[in-house]
Amino acid sequence: TPTSRIDKLLANLGYASRREIQILCKNEHILLDGAPIPRADMRVPLTPDLEFRLVVDGEALDPLPGLALMVNKPLGVTCSHKEAGPLVYDLLPTRWRRRDPAISTVGRLDKDTSGLLLMTDDGALLHRIISPKRHVAKRYRAGLARPLTGGEAELFASGTLMLEGEDKPLAPAKLEILGPQEAILQVHEGRYHQVRRMFAAAGNHVETLHREAVGGLTLPNDLEPGAIRRLTDADVATIF
Ligand code: URA
Repeated sequence: TPTSRIDKLLANLGYASRREIQILCKNEHILLDGAPIPRADMRVPLTPDLEFRLVVDGEALDPLPGLALMVNKPLGVTCSHKEAGPLVYDLLPTRWRRRDPAISTVGRLDKDTSGLLLMTDDGALLHRIISPKRHVAKRYRAGLARPLTGGEAELFASGTLMLEGEDKPLAPAKLEILGPQEAILQVHEGRYHQVRRMFAAAGNHVETLHREAVGGLTLPNDLEPGAIRRLTDADVATIF
């Protein structure tokens, strides 16, 4: 198993600078298995149980690198630093925003889309989820401005639908009609504003959009808007 210097680990988890961590160590604010660590630069194995063994300022250690999260993204919150408004990163505990490797969103949801958003500091996991080759399904519930006309499911399933300004047709997507102006759309790609543009191509307009699932991982009913939950390895496995 890999090991890390405690000062480097804590600095990368956003606790403090290495210099400040030395002071925490001197003041016996860093405990390993209940005892103050002798030196800030001592090495520890990076095993999952370290989160329970290492205590900083009386609190259990933050999640080690290799973290995966789900967020119930509220409306009005953006996934991009380039856009105005509160960021989804502001939902994270402050220290988690200073981590290296940084936590980033797995793909993006529009500011006016709500629902299941994944975040991770694991680049390989991120790539596995968003890679078009993997075909991970994304399930959206859409509320529409106008009644469905009947041809939409076939159009979306055809594999020939072209979005404006693109040169490659969309892969087949599955539409499940819930009501005259409400439907579930399951897509396997992640093109820019994909769901909104698909309904626009069908002559409609998406008024509300909510992501319910990514692969086999469904947004839990008890995860309130703005709330964050850590994914277990088993949760992550259900994505694929
Ligand atoms: N498709 C969209 O148009 N918007 C989203 O936020 C996600 C998928």
